[in-house]
Amino acid sequence: MSRAGHGKKAWWLAIQKKVRNFLLRAIRNSIIAKTNLVHRKILLEDTCNHCQQAPEDVRHALWQYPLLSPVWDSNPCWNFRSCTHFNRFGHELVQNVIIEGSNLDLFAQIIWTLWHRRNLLRTIDKLFPIEQVTPDVIAANENFLRVFPPKASDAVNRFPQRVKWKPPPNNCFKVNFDGAVFKDVKNEGGQVIASMAEKISLPNKVAAVEALAAVKL
Ligand SMILES: [Zn+2]
Repeated sequence: MSRAGHGKKAWWLAIQKKVRNFLLRAIRNSIIAKTNLVHRKILLEDTCNHCQQAPEDVRHALWQYPLLSPVWDSNPCWNFRSCTHFNRFGHELVQNVIIEGSNLDLFAQIIWTLWHRRNLLRTIDKLFPIEQVTPDVIAANENFLRVFPPKASDAVNRFPQRVKWKPPPNNCFKVNFDGAVFKDVKNEGGQVIASMAEKISLPNKVAAVEALAAVKL
């Protein structure tokens, strides 16, 4: 592989790490949406700058804000947006994405792009159109997979087939894998706190496990 190829892969993996960290921060409600700034007494009011119709919390900024419809309506896997109301972003919405077996990686990349777009709107008058978000994210993924096709051995080697269960340290979660499907998430007492993911496809597993653990905290 060329040096440029390595550079591109490193760049992409760095982006993926940022995307995944952003998803975890959004689940934990620690991104600086206006409601959180009001909560920290940094702002006095939390009205959304874009629609002026609702407080800008994480759920509003990334999911519910009406002008995001071209993004979330562009793919049938997000159809539940129009018929299901979620009060909380992480504990309800992200959990639903995981349980429904929707593409969590794609979800994370979209919300990350939406948040960056939202931040850019403060400084740039004309941005790329909102309709462009989903096609751009999908094209970037396809492009990367074309250049660096996943090896079947990658997924298998990353996870032990059989591991004797030992309790994790306090405040940590331990995830048991069994072949291609993870069984459950246990806390330090060995108590199962989550058990699902039969429908989660292999590429989503790491992100899903991290997100699930964050949702449960
Ligand atoms: Zn708004």
